[in-house]
Amino acid sequence: MSEAESAIRPLVAGNWKMNGLAAALGEAAAVRDALPGLGTGAPSVMICPPATLLAALAAAAKGSNLEVGGQDCHAAASGAHTGDIAAEMLKDAGAAAVIVGHSERRADHGELDRVVRAKATAAHRAGLTAIICIGETKGQRLTGLTLDVVDRQLKASLPDSVSCTNTVVAYEPIWAIGTGLTPEPRDVAEVHAAIRKSLEARFGEAGRRIRILYGGSVKPSNAKELLSLPNVNGALVGGASLKAADFLAIIRAYA
Ligand code: PEP
Repeated sequence: MSEAESAIRPLVAGNWKMNGLAAALGEAAAVRDALPGLGTGAPSVMICPPATLLAALAAAAKGSNLEVGGQDCHAAASGAHTGDIAAEMLKDAGAAAVIVGHSERRADHGELDRVVRAKATAAHRAGLTAIICIGETKGQRLTGLTLDVVDRQLKASLPDSVSCTNTVVAYEPIWAIGTGLTPEPRDVAEVHAAIRKSLEARFGEAGRRIRILYGGSVKPSNAKELLSLPNVNGALVGGASLKAADFLAIIRAYA
């Protein structure tokens, strides 16, 4: 591990997606209550609930080590955008971060890299950390395009306002999300090394310190192997973040 990397505190972030009614806050409370017992090597821990639960979860997490994030934001600070949420509103509701460019947003809502970049800029404007997602399709992996695709997304989705504290990059191979499939560890390491190189080339010292998360079917049984790879500075976890016991088992991969 390089000196710069060992200075990075890992982040394990849970993306609840469109899951969770008020009763699910009990799972988040169980995560919150377990964090003080994790010891000094513990990562930062965040839950990104659906927008309907964000303020309640932020209130429940106040004064604890549990951070709260949104799952998406609009690029504008306010205005006539029915159903959308501004980064400033997430901040106001208690969020510290927001996921932008998740592949489900890119697929379901046609979000292109330039839209993702505008959303990340909005997150920075509002004082939120932008968790910017990138990743290849199965077809792109099979045809050897992974590194090209990821580099193109990285360059086009990250705004110039990136710093090592206001941005996290999440590498999420689309074919690994929610499928139970994961890339070979050497393939994850290869992509993360390429992302690190590109971040360093563009952002210099900050690029050495930006957290690069792996996401895609992380679960208790594979967390230790994936999270110990070079340039993997944590995980973005979907399905396995919905149950406190599973999410905590992933977090404890750092124990
Ligand atoms: C995600 O949605 O960001 C994700 C990684 O999902 P899962 O862990 O369920 O594959």
